[in-house]
Amino acid sequence: MTDKYAQLVNQGLGRNVARKLGLPQPAVLRRYKPGQPLITGPIVVQGDSAAADKLAAELLAWDLDVRRHAVPREKLGAIILVLDDVARPEDLEKPVLAAGASLRDLAPGARVLTVSRPASEADSPAAAAARQGVDGFLRSLAKELRAGATGNGILLSGDVEPTSPSALAAVRFFLSGRSAFVDGQFLTVSSTDGQLPDDFDRPLAGKVAVVTGAARGIGAEIARTLHRDGATLVLVDLPAAGDHLAAVANEVKGTALQLDISRDDAGQRIIEHAVQRHRRLGIMIHNAGITRDKLLANMDHARWSSVININIAAQLRINEALLASEHFGPAPRIVSVASTSGIAGNRGQTNYAASKGGVMGMVRATAPLLAASGGTINAVAPGFIETEMTERIPFALREIARRANSLQQGGKPSDVAEAISFLASGAAGGINGEVLRVCGQNMVGA
Ligand code: NAD
Repeated sequence: MTDKYAQLVNQGLGRNVARKLGLPQPAVLRRYKPGQPLITGPIVVQGDSAAADKLAAELLAWDLDVRRHAVPREKLGAIILVLDDVARPEDLEKPVLAAGASLRDLAPGARVLTVSRPASEADSPAAAAARQGVDGFLRSLAKELRAGATGNGILLSGDVEPTSPSALAAVRFFLSGRSAFVDGQFLTVSSTDGQLPDDFDRPLAGKVAVVTGAARGIGAEIARTLHRDGATLVLVDLPAAGDHLAAVANEVKGTALQLDISRDDAGQRIIEHAVQRHRRLGIMIHNAGITRDKLLANMDHARWSSVININIAAQLRINEALLASEHFGPAPRIVSVASTSGIAGNRGQTNYAASKGGVMGMVRATAPLLAASGGTINAVAPGFIETEMTERIPFALREIARRANSLQQGGKPSDVAEAISFLASGAAGGINGEVLRVCGQNMVGA
């Protein structure tokens, strides 16, 4: 589905008219293509801590143009603010004002990243204030960026260093075009687990991944992205979607499994198929989901129960089977698709939001169970994504939903898929129990 307004205001006359009238001008986002440079332009690593020095040294080893101070009027690819040592709210001023002075020099599609420690009850009140201050600072800064630039934060918990594998992997993800529609978000790295790939363009090489709801929409795009990144695929969808499923499976050289995921034996059927056809199973992507919208006053049993059953109860049953299986692993990965509706709520979607809130609760509680086997489980919460589902929204409502985020446009299915592929990778082994929003910093709710 195309955003004709965004096309119009990005060319010739349309661009001038939109500028004169002060209309939204959504930028063309910088999206990932294999082989492209991680980022174009110098990266300024700001901060005086030993961690800042170490991170700058690592980035240099990736052949990036790394500076410790900005040169005025030079177009920058990224600013990384290392704020791990802030102990009092006053400590924020020097580094953030230094970053502020460089903001006008950011290139289109640039990145601003903070690297800091999460505030916790164990901190002194002043340290917790400084650390939590980074949260408010970054989310506000992200709303000030223009021309497709984004701002995101990495939180290092416990003994995690900025040079721990998953911290570096998160830096790469946020700098790259893979994170085009992730804006104003934080990702916590909670352990030193994880292994960087030999080839950053094929981080899933050798892995067998299952994707549910893969016949169309976001699921089909997840399949294409995981295939591009090196995974072998098992694609699951309803028998009624069999033809579309077979077409996607052919495209990505995977196998198709026609299955209703709400069946009691769905987990067992998935494991048997993966083992028989591919000898193993390492990655499970829970994408299949449905909406049956109605105001609660008009909600009936069928609408409520079908949404809860397919969107969350089925995932719980399948996970139970996977966790009990000797075939799931090593270092297994589960990634579930939630929704910003489950965070901020949405009128007419009490059933859907309960199911997607449920996905996030399930992910947090399952994380320790997977950690025991060296695995992880995380969720991705998309905002407005351009799909057949959102194409059916009435025009005026769709335009409002599309523009009501910092990037002033809807995301693409590939934006969701890129975040999922990252969380499914070996390098993300230190990220567990997290919910990453892919919503362009949706203005609605949380
Ligand atoms: P979609 O309706 O285009 O595709 C969903 C797929 O799931 C379909 O192929 C369908 O046949 C399959 N499916 C449904 N029930 C199934 C079952 N019982 N067993 C097996 N397969 C089943 O939806 P989409 O827009 O691609 O959304 C994919 C996921 O992303 C869903 O979980 C949705 O809730 C979530 N999401 C979408 C958006 C958006 O803007 N499109 C936003 C937030 C979250």
